[in-house]
Amino acid sequence: MSVERQLFDGHGRRISDLRVSVTDRCNFRCQYCMPAEGLDWIDREEILTFEEITRLVTIFAAMGIEDLRLTGGEPLVRKAFPDLVAMLSEVDGVRDLSLTTNGYLLERDAAALVSAGIQRVNVSIDSLQRDRFFQITRRDALPRVLDGLKALSSHPEVGPIKVNAVATRDFTEQEVGRFCEFARSADYQVRFIEFMPLDGDRSWVPESVLAGEELRRMVAAIHPIEEVPRQPSATARVFRFTDGSGEIGFVNPVTEPFCSDCNRVRLTAEGKLRTCLFSIGETDLREPLRNGAADHEIDEIIREAVWRKELKHRVNEPGFRQPPRTMSAIGG
Ligand code: SAM
Ligand code: SF4
Repeated sequence: MSVERQLFDGHGRRISDLRVSVTDRCNFRCQYCMPAEGLDWIDREEILTFEEITRLVTIFAAMGIEDLRLTGGEPLVRKAFPDLVAMLSEVDGVRDLSLTTNGYLLERDAAALVSAGIQRVNVSIDSLQRDRFFQITRRDALPRVLDGLKALSSHPEVGPIKVNAVATRDFTEQEVGRFCEFARSADYQVRFIEFMPLDGDRSWVPESVLAGEELRRMVAAIHPIEEVPRQPSATARVFRFTDGSGEIGFVNPVTEPFCSDCNRVRLTAEGKLRTCLFSIGETDLREPLRNGAADHEIDEIIREAVWRKELKHRVNEPGFRQPPRTMSAIGG
């Protein structure tokens, strides 16, 4: 693709990664994401249809978006979700089609997702102990999620499978040993993600962040690890166990921000374009879409919004404002 067609922001970063939230609804209520009582769900007619999502993704792909991740809310609660995957896997230019899920419905959907063309899957698991999993997600679902993970692993077409754990202080410390064994014994790359101020309860304080570096030291005290060279625009610092049995990663957006080579933008379930997880403003793409705008007009709106992409997040700066949307309504 010619450079002129590619999507750049005003800081010279090429944008090649789009995360699409397909629903704001979820069957879990993770402490760090949603309030126990849930949220006011977006009305169904406001949610982009599969055809609308596919049209927008096609426009993005024509601007050089190569990596497409489907997320939510919980994507698998969206009716006929594998049909959307099949539609998106046909879009020219999309090189990497991936999914982030809590795994609750994965046993039901794994085969359909694979035949629809999903290439990589991240499954969120914050604890490997049933009672503590319940405590954090407010659902007694660990055995079912592990069954889903197993069902997915029986499909060699999907890989790598990553297991993401949000790390919170006074909780995740006790999980480190188990996650190390999990990463070493199975074919999953475990990644700890620092807790960000995007929770529904607004309980985030800097002290609740368990820094990736602290976790890395805990892991290294159990098993020797060495760093794997970082890929451009990768969010995780990845380490391999020196005896060759598996990898473990650390995504440290709070203590080691990776904004300088950020290549992502996000589309919410109701069609708002967000240029940063922490954006306060967003750009509506649904209205022009539903009002009959031509592709080149939508292309222009996207380019202008992306040009204004934030240089960096300001979580660690005085006066930081938590965005009104929670992670579940943004699409993590
Ligand atoms: N429901 C799916 C899931 O949980 O995997 C997909 C959506 S969820 C919002 C996407 C990712 O964001 C999950 O890995 C989740 O753990 C993570 N997440 C949610 N709230 C977070 C927060 N406040 N800080 C860091 N990560 C968070
Ligand atoms: Fe649902 Fe995922 Fe948020 Fe948990 S992290 S409440 S599974 S959207």
